[in-house]
Amino acid sequence: MLVKFVFILVLIAFTQSCKEKTSRSNSYYNDSESNYYYEDEEAYPDDTYCADVDYYNPDTGARSNYTLNVEVEDNEVTVIHFSRGWLDSSEFSSEALDEDGYCSIRLYDGRQFDIQITGSGCSFSDGYRIESDIEDEIAAVTCPRCGFSKYEYDTYCNDCENLLENTCSRCGGFEYYVYGGLCSSCKDDDNEGW
Ligand SMILES: [Zn+2]
Ligand SMILES: [Zn+2]
Repeated sequence: MLVKFVFILVLIAFTQSCKEKTSRSNSYYNDSESNYYYEDEEAYPDDTYCADVDYYNPDTGARSNYTLNVEVEDNEVTVIHFSRGWLDSSEFSSEALDEDGYCSIRLYDGRQFDIQITGSGCSFSDGYRIESDIEDEIAAVTCPRCGFSKYEYDTYCNDCENLLENTCSRCGGFEYYVYGGLCSSCKDDDNEGW
């Protein structure tokens, strides 16, 4: 009997709070509710979209255009998809789309992606192409001898260049401007042999 009574009380309390909510939203909370509806009708609901992407690397001057899939969340671009890889919040802070579906994203390393959404997710993208382009870009600024960074116009990094220029190719001794040839003491040895 007591259990039944408590149950009824709870039921009443529940009905009361429902009533309260309803009357509230009809008056005071009207504004925030209409805002909420507006958000619901945002131009780009959370999904994957096809985008026209202008890529620019200010370090190398590389500039290219790609069709890529991007993910939108809360009207912001949060992920740029390649074919195997992708860029996300670990590389950039997401940017809000304007009413035309455009935003410009700058990665923490300075590379820039101008993104224009063109429609719903595309089944064919330039994911492979941008991946191989970026690999080439990285290769262009990576020393093939030691793997550290180098200038694009140099074959090797300064350290390696210096080593090659000033190291005897036979004994490994240091001498300026041997350019991969022999140091003077190795040359002397050769001459003595004659
Ligand atoms: Zn090097
Ligand atoms: Zn030598």
